[in-house]
Amino acid sequence: MTKSALCVIFKVMRKLTDKLAQERILSRGEFAELLTCEDDYLHEAARKARENIYGNKIFLRGLIEFTSYCKNDCFYCGLRRSNSSAARYRLSKEQILNCCDEGYDAGYRTFVLQGGEDAFFTDEILTDIIRAIKCKYPDCALTLSTGERGFESLKLLREAGADRYLLRHETADSAHYAELHPPEMQASARQKCLRDLKELGFQTGCGFMVGSPKQTLENIVSDLLFIKELDPEMVGVGPFIPHSATPFAKEKAGNLKLVLNILAILRLMKPSLLLPATTALATIENQGYELGINAGANVIMQNISPLTAREKYKIYDNKIGASENLKQRIKNIGCEFTVARGDYFNYGEQ
Ligand code: SAH
Repeated sequence: MTKSALCVIFKVMRKLTDKLAQERILSRGEFAELLTCEDDYLHEAARKARENIYGNKIFLRGLIEFTSYCKNDCFYCGLRRSNSSAARYRLSKEQILNCCDEGYDAGYRTFVLQGGEDAFFTDEILTDIIRAIKCKYPDCALTLSTGERGFESLKLLREAGADRYLLRHETADSAHYAELHPPEMQASARQKCLRDLKELGFQTGCGFMVGSPKQTLENIVSDLLFIKELDPEMVGVGPFIPHSATPFAKEKAGNLKLVLNILAILRLMKPSLLLPATTALATIENQGYELGINAGANVIMQNISPLTAREKYKIYDNKIGASENLKQRIKNIGCEFTVARGDYFNYGEQ
């Protein structure tokens, strides 16, 4: 490409970035164009937007992977029920509380309970665990990531004290959803669940994988528009990474640059979002956390599960563990972790 042609493209991208920063929305065509942006201006604008709300503070979350049993059969996930080679385990209430004890001492003030959809964890069992954690650590936030549940179930979890809930919508396009899931799973059911979570007052997180098989740029634009409409407090976006014992074993992993552009666009769309630089991002790229933060992310989750569990909770291949020198790495890019719950900006004050 000639120098002048490049110049024109950069100008267009800057204009689109400024427009998004001001109006918080673009047309479908404009979103598609900005997704392919090669200019750091987009990331700079996203960083500024984050700094205006959260300064240079990055929120840490302690992730407890409490069950690897799953009744679902998502084509991309190593925990899918058809994966007979997957090691299955469940943590007891005591083991979960031990994780919280260690996590609390290490400075975590949000615990995230994540697992497969495991019918063992009935409302009764899960609410008992939630109450125990909230009773012992009233100054901590508790996030659940336990898949789809009915309104009444979610209500009980909320009443027991859960503050936040992560449920990625995976893809807003129902035809694409059907490429990633068996017929008994429906995009609409997941979206209904997300609306229930909002209604129940959870700080709610949706999200999707970048580069999942058959995903198009148009699909991603639909995801952005879905997020705009749902108006969640958190969005989890990371690259798809193949797992060797799934139907998608031979598929390619998602593209780093595209993930970073999506993070930046989300930050500009909704400056107060809680937006993690995900483990999957740090798995496909050594500097993934730094790059994610520099593109506008403000949350990092670290695994605080027992070591024996970590080996068994394999959603995708080569998943990295907790990073030792993370504090320094974050400092090196001018940010710092804060010992705080890290709620959504102004949560509960509006
Ligand atoms: N059962 C819970 C937690 C699922 S695991 C739930 O349904 O929400 C959390 C997220 O990991 C999923 O929502 C999915 O977006 C992501 N994930 C699963 N398999 C993956 C893969 N192969 N590569 C990248 N991300 C994956």
